[in-house]
Amino acid sequence: MKYVGAIYRPPSEAYSLIIQATIGCNHNRCTFCGSYRDKSFAIRSIEEIREDLEDARQMGPVERVFLADGDALCIPQRRLKEILSEVNRYIPSVQRIGIYSNAKNILKKSVQDLQELHALRLGIIYLGLETGDGQLLEKICKGATYEQMVEAARRVKEAGIALSVTVLLGIGGIEGSERHARETARILTDMDPDYVGALSLILVPGTPLHKDFAEGRFRLPDPFGLINELRIMIGESSFTHCVFRSNHASNYLPVKATLPRDKEAILAAIDSVLRSRDQARLRPEFLRAL
Ligand code: SF4
Repeated sequence: MKYVGAIYRPPSEAYSLIIQATIGCNHNRCTFCGSYRDKSFAIRSIEEIREDLEDARQMGPVERVFLADGDALCIPQRRLKEILSEVNRYIPSVQRIGIYSNAKNILKKSVQDLQELHALRLGIIYLGLETGDGQLLEKICKGATYEQMVEAARRVKEAGIALSVTVLLGIGGIEGSERHARETARILTDMDPDYVGALSLILVPGTPLHKDFAEGRFRLPDPFGLINELRIMIGESSFTHCVFRSNHASNYLPVKATLPRDKEAILAAIDSVLRSRDQARLRPEFLRAL
């Protein structure tokens, strides 16, 4: 397998075969994100992808495949269908293919396009939402409005593809913390995803947001401020059926809840941590990572 640069994948794809379909992110403008700043965006050729799939075939049965890098759903429909077909041909044991996308690129696909991808085993889309606060979405250059995020979610779900949404604790700073949390709870209710992954903001040197932080224009909430945001997001949202996790390594308090079933229990556990303000109950700083 050949990988160009650092590879990122969601925690739930830890055991998946990673196929790098694109290099970098074609948006690459989010002010907090340093993941792909050193990569020039490119779509890998089908020949290179076939070589990787040939290598993967030697590894034995694989059930899950994740298409990296940052936003591989941006690949034009015909090429993406060709890639998915090749994954199915080389790895007939594959049960589910996952991919990252931002809302802008989901909205370039119709429901029918997404259904075609689903028929080729695209089973889950990881959508970086970060926040439901419309002004904050603009400020962090996310490239989509509240309404566009909701419409992107609708298309994915209508196509029968599982939707996993990522939100970012701390992205509103201290001043915007409560609004960020409440608006995120509101948009999560409107999007009604199958999964939510909450990450905590880690400021990455070289990003515009880190510059704001270094020059005093952005202040990050303390660990309990971040957990309070998590509490509001869970407490004020409402889902049909959602697995809500904050088990990413960036978080101070890992939680995993099936909502609405576990809502009261998980809120009680979070409240207990917030009341105690006991640092010993949090993930130590040196264990946190992106
Ligand atoms: S957060 Fe996602 S869409 Fe934004 S720059 Fe990073 S990889 Fe690209």
